Amino acid sequence: MQPTTTQQDTAVEGIMSGRHFLQIPGPTNVPERILRAIDSATIDHRGPGFSQLTMEVLDGLGKIFKTSQPVVIFPASGTGAWEAALVNCLSPGDTVLMCETGHFATGWCNLAQRYNLRPIFIPGDWRHGADPKEIESRLSEDAAHQIKAVCIVHNETSTGVTSRVADIRAAIDRAGHPALFMVDTISSLASIDYRHDEWGVDVTVAGSQKGLMLPPGLSFNAVSDKALKVSEQAKLPRSYWNWADMVQTNKNGFFPYTPATNLLYGLREAIAMLLEEGLNNVFARHARLAEATRCAVRTWGLDILCLNESEYSNSLTAVLMPNGYDADEFRRVVLDNFNMSLGNGLGRLAGKVFRVGHLGDFNELMLAGSLSGVEMGLELAAVPHQKGGVQAALDFLAKTAATHNKNKVASEVA
Ligand SMILES: *Cc1c(COP(=O)(O)O)cnc(C)c1O
Repeated sequence: MQPTTTQQDTAVEGIMSGRHFLQIPGPTNVPERILRAIDSATIDHRGPGFSQLTMEVLDGLGKIFKTSQPVVIFPASGTGAWEAALVNCLSPGDTVLMCETGHFATGWCNLAQRYNLRPIFIPGDWRHGADPKEIESRLSEDAAHQIKAVCIVHNETSTGVTSRVADIRAAIDRAGHPALFMVDTISSLASIDYRHDEWGVDVTVAGSQKGLMLPPGLSFNAVSDKALKVSEQAKLPRSYWNWADMVQTNKNGFFPYTPATNLLYGLREAIAMLLEEGLNNVFARHARLAEATRCAVRTWGLDILCLNESEYSNSLTAVLMPNGYDADEFRRVVLDNFNMSLGNGLGRLAGKVFRVGHLGDFNELMLAGSLSGVEMGLELAAVPHQKGGVQAALDFLAKTAATHNKNKVASEVA
């Protein structure tokens, strides 16, 4: 018999009561407000009511990406927006500079190769972010300006390492190089500070199912005027992903093909929630929950995969298993016993790490529950560790509560 799958994603036969803990770094927990918003009649996407929805959503997205330039919305997963970024701006045989920060950076590089682009893939150890110095030196060597784009993953979801986008922008500027700057923010947007215009990013890639708290199915390109101009000459074939059609029809609140109407209802609600809380408060909340998670990991005596403290991710924490212990077996124990899904190790990290997602619609007590599940799972799976990780996280949360609340800034909506 098939296992019962309702709200519970469980390998165990039968229903587990209470809520499933979805602690993977995307898809994240979708708040009730967003689910209710999606649960509305699908309307005529060429009618007047629809254009109002588009205008509201596009205006709100500008605030989230921090841009006054166009943002386009695709009915697609994040991978589609990766592809859109490349095919709109580049021509066959173009060189692109990419950094091997982990599984997702590798995936974007593979996509570039499939399009007959020539990626220079700066090697990495999957424990550090993209290195601004290395990028500067590669660009400085490229006197002929063969490199047409620098592509960076802001938050590497496979490793829990956040690259320093502003520093990389400064490195490109120091090299005086005209390459486009493309940044994947699929697991950082609306969780970690990000500024499309101020940081001079030409194409920002994003997705719906992580910090934006939506189900999977939407992805985004925020596009600079420079990138739009370049796209007019770019020769890679494109049709579905063509920005020009999107930007043109969006002007009147429409789309060149059927949009994901109900997800757009959800997006409007997600933007409202983020602005009501205030983006700076959202970022501070993520930073505090991330630090509490790291307090727990340190107390357990386990290693955080990210080696550079200034690159710790506030979206997720990847934890290395002690040698000889299988992370997937540990994750299975947690799922079977406590109805919680943790993120698996991806690519070369398979079986070696587990990832705790702490992004999106998330708070102190949800984190306390998640970390409790991890600590009990370590015990049940007989993974060597010190007890007291949950207590360390609780102590940190209690100690910082007053200051955290006092420092909250006024909401961005009147
Ligand atoms: C999730 C993720 C992707 C892939 O997005 P899909 O929606 O699965 O296509 C790419 N990059 C990063 C950084 C991600 O976190």
